[in-house]
Amino acid sequence: MAWPYFLLFMLIENILLIIENRPLYRLNDTITSLSHGLIEHSGKLLFRAGESYAYFYIYQHFKLMELPWNRPITWYLAAIGVDFCYYWVHRACHEVHILWAQHQVHHSSEEFNLAVGLRQSILQGWCGFIFYLPLAFYIPPAHFITHQQFNLLYQFWIHTKSIKTLGPLEYIFNTPQHHRVHHGSNIYCLDKNYGGVLIIWDRIFGTFAEEKKDEEIVYGLVYNQPSFNPLHLQTFYTEYVIQRFNSMTTWRHKLAAIFYGPSWQPGKPRLGLEEDKVKVVPRPVYDVRIPLWCNIYLLIHFSIMVYGFHLLAVHHVGLNPLTVLTFVIYIIGSLTAIGMLFDNKPNACVFELCRCMVLVTLIQRMQFININENLLLTFEIFFVLSGLFWFLQSIKVLQISSKIKLH
Ligand SMILES: [Zn+2]
Ligand SMILES: [Zn+2]
Repeated sequence: MAWPYFLLFMLIENILLIIENRPLYRLNDTITSLSHGLIEHSGKLLFRAGESYAYFYIYQHFKLMELPWNRPITWYLAAIGVDFCYYWVHRACHEVHILWAQHQVHHSSEEFNLAVGLRQSILQGWCGFIFYLPLAFYIPPAHFITHQQFNLLYQFWIHTKSIKTLGPLEYIFNTPQHHRVHHGSNIYCLDKNYGGVLIIWDRIFGTFAEEKKDEEIVYGLVYNQPSFNPLHLQTFYTEYVIQRFNSMTTWRHKLAAIFYGPSWQPGKPRLGLEEDKVKVVPRPVYDVRIPLWCNIYLLIHFSIMVYGFHLLAVHHVGLNPLTVLTFVIYIIGSLTAIGMLFDNKPNACVFELCRCMVLVTLIQRMQFININENLLLTFEIFFVLSGLFWFLQSIKVLQISSKIKLH
């Protein structure tokens, strides 16, 4: 339900960027961010809040007190409790290598705008559920889930460069200024400002850093991934953690490679040494220039995927789980194809051709009772024509000209 508001706020941010005469959102980076948002929510359609099951179980069998659902104190305790636990979840996501392997998705953009707020890992929900379990002894599940949602919704608007400072609110709340520091790769920014709604947790536990006015923040990962492929960005780091695990010779080191910090090395402290950290300085941003028609094509196909996801999200409860899984795989495959085209990968056109043909087959084989027949026919024709186009591309009758641009 929040998505239309997300898009509206992104539009407003772009208007502000025009007024400030600053560069607008890049289409490739923005669609990659939104693709991660769709992938995260696709996961939610499959898991159906499975990550909250342990919470329900503990509350049902082991609760220590029953707080009245309609007393303000219950809601205040839930709000503060959720935010306190979020601080530790988020800190763990940066200090435990296997959790960072998921959370790095959120930090993988070299931009800092509202779209980045939606860039999340499909497994993010599973990374932190243990940290919230102490709340289950006294906070009712409905209050917990409501505040967990509010907490995440709050964090959308703090991904912007357009709001410089909020005066005295900066002492208490997590603000765009504090969150810019959190997304920086500069040494002073690393592992700082984990708070969700309140920044006081960072001030109390020693992880707070003020934005430096004399040092430009470099966004993105310390070792950046030059890719717009959301599936690659979701998975590459987990592959790296597995490699690190296999490369260690003792079990002690193998476990440390998974549970210690990303900068840990054998014989070094849990979070690595400060002097070993890479000094990131302003660097060229990864970009691939593709023709205007190709950008328009990808924007249209991405919009169709958003519409398809919306239909799936609305109707998935009444659908066979296998059908939901089929469409989730199709959506993730489509977003991957779109990312590969933005990267201008050599085999992207073959992948896109297959994707177009799969949708035409699905339209012919399955019953879509919730979609207008004319709209379905339009989609079918559009995907047949798109497939034909990529067929000509793949046999080299046509060729996209592009160049990697660093700026
Ligand atoms: Zn983070
Ligand atoms: Zn963020």
